[in-house]
Amino acid sequence: MPVLVMKFGGTSVATLDRIRRAAKRVGVEVAKGYDVIVIVSAMSGKTNELVGWVNETSPLYDAREYDAVVSSGENVTAGLMALTLQEMDVPARSWQGWQVPVRTTSAHSAARIEEIPTDNILTKFAEGMKVAVVAGFQGVSPEGRITTLGRGGSDTTAVAFAAAFDAERCDIYTDVDGVYTTDPRVSAKARKLDRIAFEEMLELASLGAKVLQTRSVELAMRYKVKLRVLSSFEEQSDDAGTLVCDEEDIMESNVVAGVAFSRDEAKMTLVSVADRPGIAASIFTALSDGGVNVDMIVQNISEEGRTDMTWSCPTDQVVRAQKAVAEAKAQGAINFHEVIADTDVAKVSVVGIGMRSHTGVAAKMFQVLSAEGINIKVITTSEIKISVLIDRKYMELAVQALHDAFELEKAA
Ligand code: ASP
Ligand code: MG
Repeated sequence: MPVLVMKFGGTSVATLDRIRRAAKRVGVEVAKGYDVIVIVSAMSGKTNELVGWVNETSPLYDAREYDAVVSSGENVTAGLMALTLQEMDVPARSWQGWQVPVRTTSAHSAARIEEIPTDNILTKFAEGMKVAVVAGFQGVSPEGRITTLGRGGSDTTAVAFAAAFDAERCDIYTDVDGVYTTDPRVSAKARKLDRIAFEEMLELASLGAKVLQTRSVELAMRYKVKLRVLSSFEEQSDDAGTLVCDEEDIMESNVVAGVAFSRDEAKMTLVSVADRPGIAASIFTALSDGGVNVDMIVQNISEEGRTDMTWSCPTDQVVRAQKAVAEAKAQGAINFHEVIADTDVAKVSVVGIGMRSHTGVAAKMFQVLSAEGINIKVITTSEIKISVLIDRKYMELAVQALHDAFELEKAA
């Protein structure tokens, strides 16, 4: 029997009634002849509550116990989904991660899946079971402890199962009906895309579009898993939602596929650092050792042997970054006059594989921002993406203007 993976996110299993509706969708696929692996998230809000309880109990918690607590939301929905299916006369049972087992690294709260043996579940399918319901987001470390895959990790569980079982498709059921050209809450002209390339989705996911966990897109791209994002809130046809697929499977792509943004960016500058070989290495080693995720980097032209070094990082890492550079300065590893943090910035990016073959996208983007009187603070580019840092108060305006200028309302 062909295998299908269906993943239901937190809002799709938020109540018993919603679980029933999701189970009905599963029943439809079983009736088509699939053996189905269902991956479930915790009921929406549950994981946040569990994280809150851990923090309240123990601010400097033992990460192994954090995972033991935080993984439990998925155990509840996996059991309830299996029971619901049984009530519908669909042969089903649940699996927690360790029972499969989903073998992961020991990096608690951010573990990576290393191996998913298929024999256990395949044996049950051979015996006539139709649906394996697996708790998403969790696994087991080589030490035998429960691990979790990072927030949003059930997407990654789903894709990893699809790869391991060579599934025909991996359907991600969520509360939106697909991937949009931008967030419809920011631009009313946002359009749902029928298809998007893995690489574009990867950029959009890491740039702040929250539909899929970035890691799940990486995995899907590596193992060529056909990934579909669709809504569990509406009746769905066979071609509903957005298919995330290979570039070759997209007939005619737009130059720009989407506009992404992220509100919680900060811009930090070390003023007047000595411009000598090794200085960037020292600064960014200190930041990386301090656990700061640096995104954009700009070094100014130096004057009289001194220069300014600017980078962006998540707003909630500013304090860590300040501490890291202050310590490096105290140890004599780096020298600077002052460190400036600007936390009122946002990052806006345009993404599209068409940029590889079309020139002028950057020029157009900058013209659009200039016409709106928006000053650009930092720019970075990759082959298929251009990102700018701007004042946060202009973020919505920039997204709307870029969406209009690249005519994304005509996208499909
Ligand atoms: N329940 C977990 C979270 O909220 C994992 C997931 O839903 O993907 O992050
Ligand atoms: Mg999610």
